[in-house]
Amino acid sequence: MEVTFLGTGAAFSPHAYNSSILVDRTILMDAGAPLTVHLPRAGVSLDEPRAVMLSHFHADHTFGLAWLILGRVLLNDRTPSLSVYGPQGTASYLERLLDLAWGEEMRRMSWARLQLRVQELADGETFQVDGSRGQAFTMQHASRLACLGFTIERDGVKLGYTGDAEMSPQLNALVSASDHVISEMTYDDAGGELHLARKDIEELMARHPSVRFILTHRGGESSVNGAVMARDFLTLQLPLR
Ligand SMILES: [Zn+2]
Repeated sequence: MEVTFLGTGAAFSPHAYNSSILVDRTILMDAGAPLTVHLPRAGVSLDEPRAVMLSHFHADHTFGLAWLILGRVLLNDRTPSLSVYGPQGTASYLERLLDLAWGEEMRRMSWARLQLRVQELADGETFQVDGSRGQAFTMQHASRLACLGFTIERDGVKLGYTGDAEMSPQLNALVSASDHVISEMTYDDAGGELHLARKDIEELMARHPSVRFILTHRGGESSVNGAVMARDFLTLQLPLR
């Protein structure tokens, strides 16, 4: 499994772009980065992603989709279909995002040309994403939003992705179900609400010693012993050795 980080900053990080992770060139996990620039810069055409998994509807995880969707349609006469997976409300969120970004006419045109298929997921639900088995886990993050983390199994790797999360039993379940986990770490030090801090990561790593941690959505630039610190345009081959 090949994982490329297209954006590794937290919402307002000055040193890195917003969240987006590309798996095997075909699956995007979140879409906060400027994808019409960062996909080509990673050597991937806008046509290659077949699926986008959205963890939640905050701008730093989703706004890049407006560029990917219309850019892909306008720059390519024939373009493959695209599936979007996310929490309850994903279809209407995507409609509103595209309406605000480009207007209703462009939204209808790009939706039809991409044969956009939206699958809204509940806690524990399993799904098929680009030929791989995925599972959704409800994460505790913003109380008014449905927030998900995911696992996907591919090439013998069980990869978890937390999206944005606080410590919770479901986060533990997600890490337990993974052999590698891409986790957010927004706070380098003492921490705060809504997100994970270094002490939370250290606690999770101690509780799950066989799981390899890769840290993203970073508010600072410090590192954690034993974890891979993601940075923009880092590519990893999983399993890590
Ligand atoms: Zn968020």
